[in-house]
Amino acid sequence: MHRNNRLISLLLSVSILLSSSFSGCSLIAKITETEKQEIPTLPPATTRATSTPTPSPTPTPDPDVEAKAEALETAGKYGIPEESLRGKYDLFRRYSNAIDTNGRLGDYVPYMYNLFPVIADHLKPENESYFLAKVNSLRITLGVISEKHSGEYSSSTNVVMMNRTYLTAENIPIESTIMHELMHFVDSHIDGPLEKASFTKENVYPIHDIPASDNSIIEHSDEAAFFMEAGAELYTAKYFMHYTWSYRSAVQFLTGMEYIFGSDLIDEAFFCHDSAWFLADLLQKNGFSIQEIWSFYTTMDCMTYKRLPSEEVLRPEDVLIRLYEKNMPGDYKTDKIFCHILRCINSKDFDFGHFPSANEEFLSSLMFSDEEAKNWTFAIFDQIEQFKYFQINGVPIAGIFLNGKYRLSGQIRLLDDSGEPYGPSEAALFDYDFETGTVNSFELYLTPLNEIKRPEIK
Ligand SMILES: [Zn+2]
Repeated sequence: MHRNNRLISLLLSVSILLSSSFSGCSLIAKITETEKQEIPTLPPATTRATSTPTPSPTPTPDPDVEAKAEALETAGKYGIPEESLRGKYDLFRRYSNAIDTNGRLGDYVPYMYNLFPVIADHLKPENESYFLAKVNSLRITLGVISEKHSGEYSSSTNVVMMNRTYLTAENIPIESTIMHELMHFVDSHIDGPLEKASFTKENVYPIHDIPASDNSIIEHSDEAAFFMEAGAELYTAKYFMHYTWSYRSAVQFLTGMEYIFGSDLIDEAFFCHDSAWFLADLLQKNGFSIQEIWSFYTTMDCMTYKRLPSEEVLRPEDVLIRLYEKNMPGDYKTDKIFCHILRCINSKDFDFGHFPSANEEFLSSLMFSDEEAKNWTFAIFDQIEQFKYFQINGVPIAGIFLNGKYRLSGQIRLLDDSGEPYGPSEAALFDYDFETGTVNSFELYLTPLNEIKRPEIK
């Protein structure tokens, strides 16, 4: 039992650290006039684009043998496996050229190369020149920023600023922060410039696409910062880390959406240029009023940035329950995975105030006390031989979809005899049967980014 007590105190201390002093990053996503002017005219359709056969899951490999050889050589230098190039050798060469002629990326070049599969999976030919110009002008630098943030990204200046303090802290997985900020960079530019959503009394539009026929007054414009944060964190986990680190409520809301609507829809919603509208439109089509959507957006921003709401509250669990009832068969109350997702949304994010819910009674019946959370976690750990011999340090485990499968995941580090963590952060992934409470299988995942030499502090 001694092991358990020490372990849980570490678990809790990390969770407190996460919820109070270390809250991911600050995103400065202002959509400026300058950015709008940078929209290039669309290139004429090329032979390559028009001759592409109907889309298939496997991209057509570039026939250019030379491009392939050169791409593989460069990828090899950075330890990028061939599978990560997705068969897009020619795009990889152009991406590599945009990185190599940049000159403002410092020691972060290897991280940029590791980002390529995200780009290969989401960049459309018509956005390529716009996006590669952004790769070429990106700056990554160290700075003194708010102690609450490990890094920040500004889409208007195209600068990633890493927090000098956290970069020197050995116990912070900086690769997670770097990739989170780079995911903001990708999200901001991969589908052309970001657009806010504009809310009128009865409708919501992408800000640049308000029909001339609608003369109603715009009441709010919003970029849904909570969605940007949740998506950056979630996709950093999906591609690189396999655990999420911050913005738990918003990340778990997206996981709930993924459970109901599938991974492809969440992927499209996050990487498109008008995500704030995309999500609002989806909610409107599912029966939410404009006022409710606005309440939900402001509630989520308050949860994400730890503010007390000044407007009407609509909690993410309540939104998910309504979406479940409209789109899923059966009773959500007996769906154990869905209930687990609802439970994961509630976290230390709420310790500064209570957000009322239409499903108050049911939600409180789901919630774990600290003691119950401990017991539940240990009931999982105790099923695995390895966890009996090693002590593990990490954030509370939560669900994540990896390759379409729901896994419980947590960030862990091995501890030595004196209880000090050592070695890099890893993901512990559990294939868990919610019906029987048993672990079907278990794996530890160490991100290959760990191999990259940490950037120097100059
Ligand atoms: Zn962020």
